[in-house]
Formats: sequence, structure tokens, C-alpha cells
Amino acid sequence: MTGVFDIVAAEGFEQVVYCHDPATGLKAIVAIHSTALGPALGGTRFYPYASEDDALVDACRLARSMTYKHSVCGNDLGGGKAVIIGDPATLRSEALLRAYGRFVEGLSGRYLTAEDVGTTQADMDVIRRETAHVTGVSESLGGSGDPSPATAWGVLWAIKAVAERLWGTPSLTDRHVCISGVGKVGGALAGHLADEGAKLTVSDVQQDAVDRAVETYGAVAVGPEAAHTVACDIFSPCALGAVLNSTTIPELRCDAVVGSANNQLASVADAERLRHRGVVYAPDFVANAGGVINIAEEPHGYDHARAYDRIRSIHDTMLRVFERAERDGITTAAAADHLAEERIASVSRTRLIRTGR
Ligand code: NAD
Repeated sequence: MTGVFDIVAAEGFEQVVYCHDPATGLKAIVAIHSTALGPALGGTRFYPYASEDDALVDACRLARSMTYKHSVCGNDLGGGKAVIIGDPATLRSEALLRAYGRFVEGLSGRYLTAEDVGTTQADMDVIRRETAHVTGVSESLGGSGDPSPATAWGVLWAIKAVAERLWGTPSLTDRHVCISGVGKVGGALAGHLADEGAKLTVSDVQQDAVDRAVETYGAVAVGPEAAHTVACDIFSPCALGAVLNSTTIPELRCDAVVGSANNQLASVADAERLRHRGVVYAPDFVANAGGVINIAEEPHGYDHARAYDRIRSIHDTMLRVFERAERDGITTAAAADHLAEERIASVSRTRLIRTGR
């Protein structure tokens, strides 16, 4: 077993907090990767991990990627993530969520939580009763609500940037997009693309989700296993991670990949594989930042129009990623990492300027 400090030291984590409340069965880990740009913000994943080690590794991996996502999209936030160990279907209770909220409160705002896999907006509303350091609560409580529509809006602007890069115009009229996963984000994205005049192919493991997209947007259906092989302009993974790997990349018949799914590349080598094949890859954490840009507007008093204006900036960020990749002869994934790291280094340096406080 790798020790906690080995994992934490390897990636330069600031703090990892273990939270235990035997009365409610709460076992949670909060991983704070970096607060260089601001308080760490990331969702709480509620999942029946096979072991505490698995939970720690997942929390750390996710927290680190939040540092990069916030940085590249221009948020004044750092990277953090939390996991609650257990099956939400059986373990979730008001008392457990409130106990968790009190632990989050104990971090005094160094960590702000949000919804993630296994947690819901309703859970955030319960947590809100114990701490103000929670985002994505209901609009009636002053929050920004479900982040999925904002994420879909951001993916649309990422796709427009790719169109501009490839075809010299952001217009998507008659462009063919194949969406894998028409859930909360993919479904909303299908709507935006249909409004833009794009032709759609969709796939999902849930037949009702496919039927909805076919009936509403005139999309063509394809089986989940074949989605990545569809001949199209853009393949948009909006379901699972690791869809781009040594098996699927040779089978792609698209010009670009732009989607919302987290961790689309199975390994670092897959970014190079895509480049080698001449497929433009829009780094996932740039394309899917709409949700966190939306949430980052909450502390200023949430304003939908202002948030959605900021989300459109994903278009310009994506173009900067492509320019950097071309200039340095590197993959778009590496270019996005470099932009994120440079912003962290330059902005955190300014904090050395003393202000008298
Ligand atoms: P969701 O659960 O609402 O939708 C996912 C859809 O994918 C579901 O309809 C599911 O049936 C389908 N699916 C599952 N396995 C599939 C497969 N093998 N092939 C095709 N479809 C499959 O989730 P979501 O909120 O829409 O998120 C989609 C992806 O985007 C996830 O990877 C998520 O981590 C990522 N993401 C979401 C947000 C957000 O704001 N919701 C933000 C950033 C990233």
C-alpha cells in the first residue's frame, strides 16, 4: 500500500482531510490540491469505493484536475474534491449530509463543495444548512442550480472554436456531430446544435434518451459501441471517460473530438495518437468548464446572463490552446496543461506583494 503522504507529496497536495462520523456512517476524504488561485472548489462524489485507498486516489486525481480546469478557464478558484465512501442509495441521510457539511464548515472556506456523481442538488441544499461553503444549491437559496445546461453551453462554444479552426467559420450549419451520451449535458448540447442547424447522430445506453433526441431534433440513432466509428465532422463524447484509447482512436472517422466527458484520454499517449491521426482534440477540461464557470459566479451573487457571457469565453480559450499547440509543436492536451500551469505560476507570484492586511 502506498502511504497517504507518498500520494500527497507526489503531486504537491496542500491538504488531505479525513472526516469520520460513526453515528451516521460518514467516512469522507477532502483533497485540497491547490489554493494558489483561490479557495479549492470541486464536487463531492458519493461512491461505494472498494477500498479507502481507492477513495483517496480518486479524490486526489479529481482534485488535481480541478486545479487545471479552474486555472485554464480563468476562475479565481483552486482545485479540490471530496469523496464520501459508501452507496448513496443506502447510506444517504439528512444526518450524514449535515455531518459532512459541518466538516466542510470546519475548513473555513478553504474548500467549497458542489454536486458530483452520487450527490444531487437536493443534497447540496441539505449541506447548505450547516455551511455556506457549498455551491450549486437551488436557485431559491441563491444558487446557480444544476450546472449541466451551463456545461452544454460551454461545449457548444468549444465546438464553435474547433469549427473556426478547421473550417474558418464558427457556423455549424449542416455540420455533422455524433454525440455519445445524451443525458443532462449531451441532451442539452443536442438542442443547441439543432438550433445551429447541425445534423445529429446520437447514441446512449438508455433507449428513452435516444428516442427523445430522435423525436425532438430529428437525430439519427447509432449503437453505443459504434458511436466513435461514425463518419462525421465532430465526435462528441458526453458519457464516459477513457473513450479515446489505442483501440478507438484508429477507428475514428471524424475531424475533431469535442465533448463534455471527463478524462476522455485513457492515457497521455492517446493525445499523441490523435495528433498523429490528424484528429483535432479539444481538451476535455477546457471544453467542459461551463459548469464551474457558472458556479464560480455564485459568490458574487449569481447572475445568469453574466455567467453565460463568461462561459462563451471557452471559445477564445480553446483557440489559445490550439495556437499554443501549433507554436510549440505539442499536443493540445499538453498545451492546455501549460496554459493552466503558467497562470497559476504568474498569478500566485503576485500574492507575494504585501498589501498591509
Ligand atoms: P448523465 O448521467 O446525465 O448523462 C450521461 C449519459 O450517458 C446517460 O444518458 C447515460 O445513459 C449515457 N451513457 C452511459 N454509458 C454510455 C455508453 N457506453 N455509451 C453511450 N451513452 C452512455 O451525465 P451528465 O451530467 O450529462 O455528464 C456527462 C459527462 O460529462 C460525464 O462524463 C460527466 O462527468 C461530464 N461532465 C458533466 C458536467 C455537468 O455539468 N453535468 C460537467 C463537467 C463534466
